[in-house]
Amino acid sequence: MENITALGGDVYEIDTKMAGYSGITAGYLILGDRPCLVETGTSTSAPVVRDAVTSLGVGPEDLATVVVTHIHLDHAGGVGDIARFFPYAQVVVHEKGARHLADPSRLMASARMVWGDRLDTLFGELSPTDAQRIVALGDTGAIDLGNGRTLSSHYSPGHAKHHVGLVDSATGDLYVGDAAGVYLPETGDLRPATPPPDFDLRTALDSIALFGALGPQRLLFSHYGPVDAVHETLERSAEELRIWVDLTRQAHSEGMDLDHAVAMVRDRTKDRYTALKSDDATAEQFELLSGAPSNVAGILHWLDRISP
Ligand SMILES: [Zn+2]
Repeated sequence: MENITALGGDVYEIDTKMAGYSGITAGYLILGDRPCLVETGTSTSAPVVRDAVTSLGVGPEDLATVVVTHIHLDHAGGVGDIARFFPYAQVVVHEKGARHLADPSRLMASARMVWGDRLDTLFGELSPTDAQRIVALGDTGAIDLGNGRTLSSHYSPGHAKHHVGLVDSATGDLYVGDAAGVYLPETGDLRPATPPPDFDLRTALDSIALFGALGPQRLLFSHYGPVDAVHETLERSAEELRIWVDLTRQAHSEGMDLDHAVAMVRDRTKDRYTALKSDDATAEQFELLSGAPSNVAGILHWLDRISP
């Protein structure tokens, strides 16, 4: 299938095609005795993901595990649907996200407040998963991939308080979720993802440092794809965070409202990203996944929390 890319080590990248866009939301399938899907994509992506998983030889009864790096809808919106398509799969998530997968009503209500009518076209509706099938992770955890291979989880808050990174013992791949920002393979751009209400600079930087200390061989971004230059990329992730926070802090100290702060930060950062100089479609991808309004709002929310 055209939306599947083999990455070596029995790992396959699946373009989950959020809202029909190509190349912005990735899921990953790790084959083996206990096949594991990392990230489901949105609810509307679930049939696309099911077909990709099936075409890789993993039938309805074969998928052992579904794990999400965090419960934002572009990563976990399809969990309920995928759990229904693959009835023997366990659903693995950080303990701070577990109850929202079992009962998504509060999560969906707050997403509806943020996105309004766009919620339906962008994400669709997260459906509940039977609590019996949910395995909650603490600070660390391990997923059995079969044949002695494991996926170890590492709590990595900052972007979201229910975020984990995942390391594959066989390949050294690190699934970074959104904790290292949003990477555009077409341009090599990397932009932070600092949405409300959980963003916290110190924990976000700690999580990036933790990722470096894990010594991964490769980073697998949910947005989007593999990156081999681990060290440089994580340094860039931290640098991007500091720049966005410094500028937003400046706007905050000058008493700017959200709209003015967004305009200022957008203008002062735009030269950093090739994507914003190229065609509108690539710029639009950035705005969907780590939009300036969402990033600046998240940083302002954090600033108000630490110095009200
Ligand atoms: Zn995301």
